[in-house]
Amino acid sequence: MQIIDGKKIADDIYRELSAEIEVIKNLDKRLPHLAAVIVGNDGASETYVANKERACSNVGFNSTIIRYPENISQQDLLVKIKELNENNEIDGLIVQLPLPAHFDEQQVIEAINPNKDVDGFHPMNVGKMLVGIPSFISATPLGIIELLSRYKIETVGKSCVVIGRSNIVGKPVSVLMSRNAYPGNATVTICHSKTKGLKEICLNADILIVAIGKPNYLTADMVKEGAVVIDVGINRIKSDKTKSGWKLIGDVAFDEVAPKCGYITPVPGGVGLMTVASLLLNTMKAYKNKH
Ligand code: NDP
Repeated sequence: MQIIDGKKIADDIYRELSAEIEVIKNLDKRLPHLAAVIVGNDGASETYVANKERACSNVGFNSTIIRYPENISQQDLLVKIKELNENNEIDGLIVQLPLPAHFDEQQVIEAINPNKDVDGFHPMNVGKMLVGIPSFISATPLGIIELLSRYKIETVGKSCVVIGRSNIVGKPVSVLMSRNAYPGNATVTICHSKTKGLKEICLNADILIVAIGKPNYLTADMVKEGAVVIDVGINRIKSDKTKSGWKLIGDVAFDEVAPKCGYITPVPGGVGLMTVASLLLNTMKAYKNKH
């Protein structure tokens, strides 16, 4: 069994991006620039945006955070997005989700220029991915694809079961795993809360991608010997063994599943660490598309 080390791969990506930044600096060109809009003061959103800003600074990207109070109107937010869309110095633009309840999130996503949509949530980018045209792939599915490809995991002709059908993980990763490219060319089954016979379906999987948000849901009796298991779940549970009183665990019962696997991602230390790295990959791509 081999652990897929998300930290190592994310660090490799940061090193590669830093090297590209050195080349850009030597050419005396403008640096890639990511702008993030955050509305309200949700603690988790603040942490995510701070992580993105730190990663930008570490690799040498420019970054800007635009903060708005929770009571800003939809219209004012849309005006700001338009201004950022038109700013030629900005390559990537994200609006940290979720937005406060009074916002129409879909309208906000669709207001972002698809060429700057490094979160890959704009329907234009989702549609392009579906038909196999180069596009921005959202960070978590892109992170999974990077992990599979950098570990050179065979996917062609494999049976891949994706559990979860959300727009940000399950659906896009199932499209990517079934496309005619590598990683891909797998025979994909997508499962959800109404799926019948989940255990039998999982037992047939060479590759299992689990994104449901239920701690320790996938147990050893659901996993075929030698399977590749990608655990996307991030669940915060109480723990009397940590100073903070809580810890993060995945959707996979790691201790019992890992011994059966060919490869497995841990939580933490797996897919989660790839999300910011993937966002920076997309920002570099947006920058290069412009130049
Ligand atoms: P959603 O809540 O949007 O979707 C969950 C999906 O799981 C739904 O499709 C749901 O089915 C399905 N599901 C729920 N229970 C079961 C079950 N018992 N059997 C089969 N399917 C089930 O979740 P997300 O996709 O946003 O996130 C999933 C997990 O991944 C969460 O833990 C989240 O924190 C984590 N995550 C991690 C990221 C990372 O960077 N590593 C990024 C994004 C998410 P139905 O559609 O029928 O309701």
